[in-house]
Amino acid sequence: MDILKKSTKVSEEDFAVRYSRNNDFWLSCIDCSYSPAYSELKQFTHKNAGNMGLLSDISFQTALQFAVEVQNSENIFVFGHNECQILRLSLDESGKRFDFLNNWAVPLSHFAFQNQSLPDDLNFSGQLELISRLNVLKQVLNIGDSAIIKKRWKQGARVKISALFYDSHSGSIQDLGFSVESSDQLNLQKNIFQRRQNEIYSINYYRKQCGNSV
Ligand SMILES: [Zn+2]
Repeated sequence: MDILKKSTKVSEEDFAVRYSRNNDFWLSCIDCSYSPAYSELKQFTHKNAGNMGLLSDISFQTALQFAVEVQNSENIFVFGHNECQILRLSLDESGKRFDFLNNWAVPLSHFAFQNQSLPDDLNFSGQLELISRLNVLKQVLNIGDSAIIKKRWKQGARVKISALFYDSHSGSIQDLGFSVESSDQLNLQKNIFQRRQNEIYSINYYRKQCGNSV
């Protein structure tokens, strides 16, 4: 099952109605050229390198807690994008080092390494985009694992975390059709995501055994 095949383009009308409401919380990347927040709405945006929702990142978890517990945000969007320089640098094998950037991007480069061999018919830029999209899904799951979110779900509050992606070539936003709004749904989506990972590991394994003919 390809969990990225469900991507749908978000029309301007949909964006205005479904993705631009008061108190929405957005997580996006520092080099994303699109800013999702509308000035007339009270929305909250946290940006970092690679739109990472890490459990160990106190700055992000603080922003998340402010949005969810203080501002009662019900919608959280992880907003990835193509042509991501952070991802490109994290895969740079030229030996050039950026101490803080490289350290920060370790989870991203590790994740990219796991997924880098699929599919062969994509050029490097296309593979980067695929990994960027998968990373958005991964961050949706990470945020769902936050104690802040789990506490809100346990209290019966509605909090939905969704995956969006900005394509700078077409200037369009895509809904990746991947979201979680309960602990049960989080476990379900983790299983779907894990199956995708297992498929990749299997293909890598057979490639190693049989060469690139697989
Ligand atoms: Zn980026």
